[in-house]
Amino acid sequence: MTEPIGRRQTLQALITHARFLLAIPLTSFLSSCLDSSFVQAATTRPKGENMNQGSSPGTVDPYRLPRHVVPIRYDLRLEPDLPASSFAGEEIITLTIHQPTSEIVLNAIELNITSAQIEGDSGLARQATMTLDAELQRCHLTFTTSLPPGAWRLTMAFRGTLNDKLRGFYRSTYKDERGGTHNLATTQFEATDARRAFPCWDEPDFKAVFATTLVIDPTLTAVSNSTIASETLAGGKKVVRFADTMKMSTYLVAFIVGRIEPTDPVMIGQTPLRLWAIPGKKHLTKFGQDIAAASLSFFESYYGIRYPGDKLDLLAIPDFASGAMENLGAITYRETALLVDRQSATHGELERVADVVAHENAHMWFGDLVTMSWWNGLWLNEAFATFMEMLAVDAWKPEWKRWDSFGVSRAAAFSVDGLWSTRPIEYPVQAPKDAEAMFDVLTYEKGASVLRMLEQHIGPTVFRDGVRDYLHEHAYGNADTNDLWVSLGKIAKQPVPDLMDGWIFQPGFPLITAEINLSGQLVLSQQRFFYLPNSSPITHHPSPGIWKIPLQMRVTAGGKTNTSRMLLTEKDTTIPLPHDWESVLINEGGHGFYRVRYAPDLLDRLLNRGIDRLAVTERFNLINDAWAITVAGHMPLTDYLDLTARFTTERDKNVWAVLLDSFSFLNRIITVEDRPALEAFVRGRIGPAVADLGWVPRSGESELTKQLRGELIGAQGKLGNDPAIQRRAAELYRAYRNDTTAVDPNVVPSLVAILAHTGDATRYDEFNERFRTAATPQEERRYLFSLASFQPKALLERTIARTISGEIRTQDAPFLVSAILGNVYGRELAWGFVKLNWEKMDQIFPKQGLRRMCGGIINLATPELERDVRDFFTTRKIDLGGKTLDQYLEQLRIAVTVRERDSLALRKYLNTYR
Ligand SMILES: [Zn+2]
Repeated sequence: MTEPIGRRQTLQALITHARFLLAIPLTSFLSSCLDSSFVQAATTRPKGENMNQGSSPGTVDPYRLPRHVVPIRYDLRLEPDLPASSFAGEEIITLTIHQPTSEIVLNAIELNITSAQIEGDSGLARQATMTLDAELQRCHLTFTTSLPPGAWRLTMAFRGTLNDKLRGFYRSTYKDERGGTHNLATTQFEATDARRAFPCWDEPDFKAVFATTLVIDPTLTAVSNSTIASETLAGGKKVVRFADTMKMSTYLVAFIVGRIEPTDPVMIGQTPLRLWAIPGKKHLTKFGQDIAAASLSFFESYYGIRYPGDKLDLLAIPDFASGAMENLGAITYRETALLVDRQSATHGELERVADVVAHENAHMWFGDLVTMSWWNGLWLNEAFATFMEMLAVDAWKPEWKRWDSFGVSRAAAFSVDGLWSTRPIEYPVQAPKDAEAMFDVLTYEKGASVLRMLEQHIGPTVFRDGVRDYLHEHAYGNADTNDLWVSLGKIAKQPVPDLMDGWIFQPGFPLITAEINLSGQLVLSQQRFFYLPNSSPITHHPSPGIWKIPLQMRVTAGGKTNTSRMLLTEKDTTIPLPHDWESVLINEGGHGFYRVRYAPDLLDRLLNRGIDRLAVTERFNLINDAWAITVAGHMPLTDYLDLTARFTTERDKNVWAVLLDSFSFLNRIITVEDRPALEAFVRGRIGPAVADLGWVPRSGESELTKQLRGELIGAQGKLGNDPAIQRRAAELYRAYRNDTTAVDPNVVPSLVAILAHTGDATRYDEFNERFRTAATPQEERRYLFSLASFQPKALLERTIARTISGEIRTQDAPFLVSAILGNVYGRELAWGFVKLNWEKMDQIFPKQGLRRMCGGIINLATPELERDVRDFFTTRKIDLGGKTLDQYLEQLRIAVTVRERDSLALRKYLNTYR
């Protein structure tokens, strides 16, 4: 899966909007269960009874199905009734019984199973008695006599609801051009929601063949994982039978039924590739299809294996909880992640589509062909797809310098991994709800970062060959993290598992301190990085704090530079330097997953040599590490603010993202009285770059510079509160409304943001109307989120009220709430609203949306608000799954700590500056 909100925002927004899914509260089952007899069965069955042996012999695992019955094939027939929002289903599961048994256990929830019978070679059918264990989401079928080992066919009939929760088999709704409402039936099964659509062995290592038949209204279209084998009319219905899939996991099964339109296919080798959208949006598919085609070819050649499906469809779904889902051959997307207008989109919006499309295609092999054995391996699935999306997009558009922008992702991982409440990338997962909690920034961004570090350490070709070995070895099967390390180690002829263990099983990351000792040698010491001192109220998780660090270093001496690579394995490492050394740069190339703190003399030498001599990623790391070290209290804030003055000539958008992020952070912690002084400081820092770049692209300018211009103008108008910029923005916006080509697309979002920031009720109504009538998903999103950026309370109250009124899609509403929590003029009213309407939000928002909405609390950076936030979550006993809530609260603590520690120094500094 992929996270919903783009990574092209500031680091802060990124952290706030990290990819989180919320654990499924099992209690919600009872209220939504369809069949009262099931509720009866569920509530009377003693908890924990008949817990069967899981995959590891000898242990009882309540979340793993017994292994003596194994499905081979599902013949699945589903008949969705879109107007009634329900479906009927029938399935014949071909299975093998390995030991005599009188009970078969499989997963099901929110299904009304009306019959179940089993038939062996004799042809004699035996009826099953059914009970449902709601807590474990299981269906128990018991038979009066024991079933001997062999091949059997289990037939089940069931009914269900097309729900509005954006999971399982669910309903998405959209309006046509004439205002008529239409339904679409679609699926989202990862991690454990296939069991909401049909009874099944819903664990990733119960791979089987799926033969799906969809019985639909003849005016509708159906798409599933494979090509259509036949289409017939029967009883006034269209019967669409799909070809057998490859052997695969249940979470990758998909069906989509509705009024949807395909593009013409493009052939990639043997594979027809099409994009799908609701009527009226097909003209937005060209860009997505280009990157889909390019990345599919790229992966076939990188992996050295042909695409494993028989066709590839990419479908844009109007209501979609995450960013996209890698169902084999039928990848589903939220509209902003697939549909885009090449002409009017910003660089960031295009990059977002390219990333997500490449990410999902990467999964067709890594995830779909070879699948994790259990959910603890989820991180590798997602980390690898995130890593591969970079490789593919970088190969497709080298001028986008994708690996430079990856620094922003790595930085997002650092922000969470520097918390006491972080977690190791991989940890034991038992309950499915623990798996849901793994869809976070550590899984995707930290995981991809350590893979990149490993790839650079052993070399890209060796790494690729190791991946090929792994895929060949485990095709159509399941594998664990260690299997990949074994393949990589075999090809690299290096102890890869030993190297990676610390990065995968140990929480946090190292801070390397670089100093010169009395003998003039370089001393590098490692310790775990934390933002807060040990005395913090957050629980301390001990870890050895030593990593095996692949380190690359550049020493300049006598006018020459020399690169050296080493593996730091000790707490302290002493390295001799040439007598005439001029400067030392640690983490050359910037691929290492660690921060560096230079002793003052080392830092001075590096800066005096000129930061323009550093590569983009090295400059990025320099300022990003300095900011983190400042927040952690290891560097005076005033020194950091002085350091930012050296970047006024900077023209890289990623380096600027760090600077702007730090200014936004200060904006959140500063008092109202001091804010004008901060605005003046920000104008001073950004002003020269804005003046130099101007408002109009120069001929031959790169996409990246255009994006930088847009972002700096936006920051100058909002954070800098610059009246001249605001006036010019208003003029240009008028010109843009008359002629959409009058302004560079990368500048338009900033005009909208500035006008919202300074806007009144008339402007609000105008932007609201633009939201309702937007021509592209990106424009719709831009105007929707602008409604969170106004300053007048009455307008923000209007926006937030609409998040629970049914007016705004639940895929977006929680993020809008989070955006108002991030607006310093709206955060208090938004927090009041959340407290007041928590139950309703909990009920109507998709779980992962609710969880991410709560990320907005880290903006409530005053001591009073922090206390209130803690009280609320403690009193209500709210659990966001995993360590999510602890992480938010710790991030809030960090902001308040900086406020309490540095406010006075900041005020003095800003006043002098003025
Ligand atoms: Zn993914």
